[in-house]
Amino acid sequence: MLLSDSVQYLKGIGEKRAELFHKLGIFTVEDLLYHLPRGFEDRTNIKDISDLAEGETVCVKGVLAMGLRKFRARNGTWVIQTRLSDGSGVMQLTWFNAPYVEKSLEDPSAEYIFFGRVSYRRMSPEMVNPIIEKVDSGTSKMGKIVPIYPATGGLQQRSIRDAVTQAVLKLGEKLPESLPEEIRQKYNLIDIERAIRSVHMPETFDDFYTARRRLVFEEFLKLQLGVATVKAHKHKQSAVVIENVKCIADFAASLPFELTNAQKRVINEISADLKNSVPMNRLVQGDVGSGKTIVAAASMFAVAKSGYQSVMMAPTEILAEQHFAGLKKYFEPWGIKVAFLSGGQKAKERRENLELIESGEASVIVGTHAVITDKVNFANLALSITDEQHRFGVSQRTKLAGKGINSHTLVMTATPIPRTLSLVIYGDLDISIIDQLPPGRKEIKTIALTEARRAKMYEFILQELNKGRQAYFVCALVEDSDAVSAKAATDYVKRLSNGVLRGKSVGLLHGRMKSFEKEDIMKRFAAGEIDALVATTVIEVGVDVPNATIMVIENAERFGLSQLHQLRGRVGRGAEQSYCIMFGDQKSGVAKERMAVMCETNDGFKIAEKDLEIRGPGEFFGTRQHGLPEMKIGNFFTDMDILKETQGAAAEILKEDPMLENKKYDILNREVVKTFNKVGDVLN
Ligand code: ADP
Ligand code: MG
Repeated sequence: MLLSDSVQYLKGIGEKRAELFHKLGIFTVEDLLYHLPRGFEDRTNIKDISDLAEGETVCVKGVLAMGLRKFRARNGTWVIQTRLSDGSGVMQLTWFNAPYVEKSLEDPSAEYIFFGRVSYRRMSPEMVNPIIEKVDSGTSKMGKIVPIYPATGGLQQRSIRDAVTQAVLKLGEKLPESLPEEIRQKYNLIDIERAIRSVHMPETFDDFYTARRRLVFEEFLKLQLGVATVKAHKHKQSAVVIENVKCIADFAASLPFELTNAQKRVINEISADLKNSVPMNRLVQGDVGSGKTIVAAASMFAVAKSGYQSVMMAPTEILAEQHFAGLKKYFEPWGIKVAFLSGGQKAKERRENLELIESGEASVIVGTHAVITDKVNFANLALSITDEQHRFGVSQRTKLAGKGINSHTLVMTATPIPRTLSLVIYGDLDISIIDQLPPGRKEIKTIALTEARRAKMYEFILQELNKGRQAYFVCALVEDSDAVSAKAATDYVKRLSNGVLRGKSVGLLHGRMKSFEKEDIMKRFAAGEIDALVATTVIEVGVDVPNATIMVIENAERFGLSQLHQLRGRVGRGAEQSYCIMFGDQKSGVAKERMAVMCETNDGFKIAEKDLEIRGPGEFFGTRQHGLPEMKIGNFFTDMDILKETQGAAAEILKEDPMLENKKYDILNREVVKTFNKVGDVLN
């Protein structure tokens, strides 16, 4: 079997199952071998039923003490129950919605092993949804260390494991080794053959960890090398020098408010970059409401006054439109023309805007990702800005930068990552932090409620609306589909306007609406014609309506901590007291903890730290949020040691061989280029 063979060559994988593998990005045997486990289950630990302790995850072995009992619970789920006896005691086994169980347990005389978490009910032990293995089944993985893979609906861990095991055992060629011998020796890393074998089929825990460390090291090293190369490449280019940044003072003086010290500091940092011929590559982090837009506007002002163009890209139409309206207000008095581009625009309007951009008549351009399509030709782009950077991938960011041959780039985000981490993974960016909110803001009062208190809360909301305030109601994505969440939101609007909000004007905003509809709704909400706005998470980023003081989040347990904080940031933007009200199921410990953190603090940086902490070791750290290449095995939080080690290693390698030209780096270099080319054409 060869690395390039299709997974369909493997036993047990037909066309249908192959499709499930494709969903995981696995097409070839090579893909399969590099489909790395997220962790493992310790099934070496077979225990007597009489010794089981609450909460431990173990194996028990015995025979079924009764036939299967199958019934439908009140809420409609199918339940299968039986009891297991091992000579020391008897325990209850329960499965929910697991029809395959019947088949797995069809032999009444057989001995079985069950693996799962022990809980106690009425003094007697139970396992819910344990994994089943028949003792003499030959392929038994019980009593071993079993890797756990990222999976997808319909594809069981066992199928993935079987496939991977076959691939490991039957591979007829050598795996390419990207780490030269001397690096492996220096950092005490095993070779790739052993690493891949041991990570999938570990004999001992040490085996697994040693293999994992090697693979994480490799993954992080490639990331570091890629990031460093991008940075070096950028520094070699030269950008337009914006001589006149002093004029920003005039712009600031024209604003209806005084800039905060943090805003001034960050504008100074940006100005210094703009005056330099080395292209700026700067990340501005600032909590929601800290006033990032005006910082961007000030930079665009200086660029426009020097006769060049700048562009700002926003992740949603709503936000782009809002920026367009805002920037026009700032710039028009100065005779600076602002153009707008979005996917939902009419053809004629789009053409007109494209002309403004090509002729150079517009020196400020705002839009959605429509601004990076090939059809847009800037006259003389000198600065590109990406708002809410975490919503975009690195590829979009670099693509935008690529538009103005050597433009300065500024990216802005409200999702901060801890300083230690940002230094390592944002190696290609300089960082500015707006760590101060505009004065006069009141702390948002946050509260998490159960259903029992909904009616009372609605009364309170009604009172606030009667005072002339406005409210957001955000419905969680029930499923990852626009259609479903649109329906949920529509139903919710009906309930509110036929119920507690009778007589008020209730608006609706969701991802399926046409952009002109969304724009219309947002305009009317901003103008105060709509009292309450029901929205899906399209509202999440950036929207700014200071008179809205109430944010109700339904099914808050479905949101991550950073997302909750983002949502809350839609209120607290004016002088009045604002409230964030979370409804949600707090049964899960994690959901409860998230909501507790929300109630405790308004500080985005603290929340980001907490977010990482709660996600914890088991869970994959959401790289997508930060626009980085996805890590297959490394975890930026728990593998920080290795990350730091690779930072040192990358620096050493590049010092000796900046272009990775030495033959020993051939494979490593090729893989780095491959990863980062997916990301943008920055390495050309
Ligand atoms: P974010 O950082 O979340 O993008 P925005 O740029 O949308 O924040 O700013 C939030 C609100 O604060 C806007 O209404 C903006 O006009 C206002 N604002 C920004 N800077 C100041 C300031 N220095 N003083 C008072 N209000 C400000
Ligand atoms: Mg913003």
